[in-house]
Amino acid sequence: MTAIDSVIEKLRTIVGDGGLIVDPTQMQPYLQSWRDNWIGKSPAVVRPASTGQVAAVVKLCADTGTRIVPQGGRTGVTGASQPHGDSSEIVLSLERMNRIRSLDLDNDTLTAEAGCILEEVRAAAQNAGRLFPLSFGSVGSCQIGGNISTNAGGVNVIRYGSTRNLITGLEVVLPDGRIWDGLRSLRKDNAGYDMKQIFIGAEGTLGIVTAAVVRLFPYPRGSAMAVLAVSSPAHALGWLRRLKARFAEELTSFELIQRLCIEVTRKHIPGIPEILAEVAPWYVLVEVSGQDDDFSLKSALEQELEAGFSAGEAVNATIAESRQQEQSMWRLRESIPEAHKSEGASFKHDISVPITMIPEFLTRVESELARAIPNLRMFTFGHVGDGNLHFNPLMPAGVEPGRGDLQRVNTIVHDIVASLGGSISAEHGIGRLRREELVKYKSAVELDMMLTLKRAFDPMNLLNPGKIFTDELVRNSGRS
Ligand SMILES: Cc1cc2nc3c(=O)[nH]c(=O)nc-3n(C[C@H](O)[C@H](O)[C@H](O)COP(=O)(O)OP(=O)(O)OC[C@H]3O[C@@H](n4cnc5c(N)ncnc54)[C@H](O)[C@@H]3O)c2cc1C
Repeated sequence: MTAIDSVIEKLRTIVGDGGLIVDPTQMQPYLQSWRDNWIGKSPAVVRPASTGQVAAVVKLCADTGTRIVPQGGRTGVTGASQPHGDSSEIVLSLERMNRIRSLDLDNDTLTAEAGCILEEVRAAAQNAGRLFPLSFGSVGSCQIGGNISTNAGGVNVIRYGSTRNLITGLEVVLPDGRIWDGLRSLRKDNAGYDMKQIFIGAEGTLGIVTAAVVRLFPYPRGSAMAVLAVSSPAHALGWLRRLKARFAEELTSFELIQRLCIEVTRKHIPGIPEILAEVAPWYVLVEVSGQDDDFSLKSALEQELEAGFSAGEAVNATIAESRQQEQSMWRLRESIPEAHKSEGASFKHDISVPITMIPEFLTRVESELARAIPNLRMFTFGHVGDGNLHFNPLMPAGVEPGRGDLQRVNTIVHDIVASLGGSISAEHGIGRLRREELVKYKSAVELDMMLTLKRAFDPMNLLNPGKIFTDELVRNSGRS
């Protein structure tokens, strides 16, 4: 019996036959990502059903030097939840840990196990008359543990913040197998370092999240939505300023969409209607919601659009007349990534810059890219109210990228981002996709602080190795 066979047999005694997959065909879905661009190999997928089982699995791995890839819903887009191709890592899926443990309505918190699907957490909150505001296109497949580990953002960050702002406590299995019970539901807690924040956005490299306490909000009584046709990103920012001033916290989404995104989405996704009768270079999807009713919010939105129009901010807009129309607007927005995937070769970036810098970023990047690769098709959308764009230009139809194009495009985009004080990863994380660039764009001091944490928590580099940092970087770090 080989060493890994012996580990697998011990895993079986911990999680039982139902918690272990070794058949290559059954393992397949766990080895690939949503976009199919990350595909790995593994000797086993282990699916513990309790925190105790996770701890026992991790302890066994620590004792035997076995590497682990923690896995949620596999919707991450940076190759962080797939094993490498050498079959050296087991996959630890949290999917069987999917219970809502408790709900405290006076405290406005809910405790969920890491494997709960985001949509189910939202539904549990809604059934109790509360809102859990985290939401985006993969809501029906991603897990709360994955959301925490990527510090996911989405369409409501402008009002509620990203996942980091939505968590009051965590339960985590550390790389040596100890359980940290940090399931606090406190609004205020300054008793030393805030350890939960270390694990949020850590992409499974510091510990395995097994449960979390999430913050809930009053469920909005009303909402209103509009689509605005705008001439440029600067024009969109003018509207952002105006709507923020009028609606403050009631402005819950402000999404920018380039024209080509609409055309590609309508081409690949059946049943998507035209966004507006008027064809414009850019559109903005606006949602306001809060404790006012639909009618009041809709009237206020109408008034504000008219006021802007009178002040010379030319706009062609439509306000959703029904919930169904609102849903149809959201469906269009949420279908863009899926349609983009079907349209062929592209270069993807998830960048953020200070909101004020969005127009300058787009002007500079589009002009430099036009010189580097003629006829690139600009495909930009995103959470512009947070300064976050998915800048994903498509190759000309039928043309494949040449050798070196990917690196050339990434360098142009990310150098401009860095020069504007931005980030090369706004909400998707680093994974394997951006780990070389992380070294380029983080200062030596910041990188050293990150690697010091990694070594302190996971000295044997067993948890999600090769993600965020290369193995080599971790191995060589800390040597004077
Ligand atoms: C159509 C579509 C739209 C999307 N839109 C957005 C968006 O608007 N905003 C956004 O932020 N993201 C978006 N994403 C990306 C993705 O959905 C999020 O990153 C999501 O949070 C990942 O959750 P997951 O459960 O699928 O995690 P996975 O992909 O399984 O894992 C992601 C990372 O978390 C780690 N991990 C997973 N579970 C745990 C755990 N319990 N403990 C420790 N580590 C763990 C993994 O090792 C990996 O590093 C989108 C993806 C798709 C496919």
